[in-house]
Amino acid sequence: MSDTGANNETVTGIAGTADPELLSFAADVLEKSGGVIEQEGERLLVLLPAHLAQALDVPEEVRLGDEKMPLLYGSPLLDRLIALATRDIPVVYGQIELPYLKKAGFDQLIETDLTWVNAAVRVSSRAEARATYMVLVCHYVALSDERKEGLVQVGIHEGSGAAVEGLEEQWKDFHPVYFPAGRVPPHFPVHLDQALSRAMIHAREATQRELADFFSSMERRLHRDVKNTREYYEALKSEMEASLAHPNLTDMQRRERTEKIRELPLEMERKIRDLEQKYQVQVNVTARAATRLLVDVVQLMVEVKHRKLRRQIRLIWNPVTYRMDPLVCERCGATITTIHLEEKGSEIELLCFPCSRKK
Ligand SMILES: [Zn+2]
Repeated sequence: MSDTGANNETVTGIAGTADPELLSFAADVLEKSGGVIEQEGERLLVLLPAHLAQALDVPEEVRLGDEKMPLLYGSPLLDRLIALATRDIPVVYGQIELPYLKKAGFDQLIETDLTWVNAAVRVSSRAEARATYMVLVCHYVALSDERKEGLVQVGIHEGSGAAVEGLEEQWKDFHPVYFPAGRVPPHFPVHLDQALSRAMIHAREATQRELADFFSSMERRLHRDVKNTREYYEALKSEMEASLAHPNLTDMQRRERTEKIRELPLEMERKIRDLEQKYQVQVNVTARAATRLLVDVVQLMVEVKHRKLRRQIRLIWNPVTYRMDPLVCERCGATITTIHLEEKGSEIELLCFPCSRKK
């Protein structure tokens, strides 16, 4: 799959059959496993080697992202893709236990670490609990006129899939105790597919941020080369037009030159297309290792009030980041620290800004 600096902002959702981030994840996984991918607007046309088609239980030639083969969270195809992407990743299990957890001050924290739009919030109860997190280490390679590679790490809350910023840096300071194989407690969700796919997507986003300079450098070079190419062809055209006035030119020569001048714009467009090809950036992100952590946390039940509606929600205060964990948008799953409340029937929905704008 290919990304350019110009299209790395969040793409808005598509009517129900494919999530753009998942499509790009699928393209990445399939390409690495030997598939040939062609982007067709908001779908992928995929050609797969026989064994891969069999493993994924799809035809060898298949269109992903339409009604027949949707690509959404919870779709069986996505589960199989994730299994394919992550089957060789070593996973270690550990626990972070804390002798003392913060006891007070949460009423303030839920309003400083999180921002509530059109809502009043109040802590109604507090309890000590445990939550599971995953820190995923990924390797990325960006290929263009140059090559750049590196590692990114992301931390997520496994239950919600929210990206927990800072977790990937700070967890080691808490010296987790590791569980030996066969002694892993049952607190960890058995199906880690959704957590992993979320983590992979956050890793892709982290990679995009990491590569921002690389993208702009390729873009700068492309602009420079395109500009030079245009100038070259403009100069060439003027020169050739001037030469038409030469008195010794035969009719034949004049016709030939006029013809060549007419073809110049096409030739230039071809050159520019080649340049665009040359500076396109291909990014591959591969998961390399996962650490799953069982962490002592403070769980808060919080009452959210929006207009006349009320709702109880569960929030987590994370002792590793020393902050409230972010939430996820209840429509698109994006990680949010600014929460937009919307009325849905007689209920309250917690949304990201783009989803709150959509009717
Ligand atoms: Zn959303």
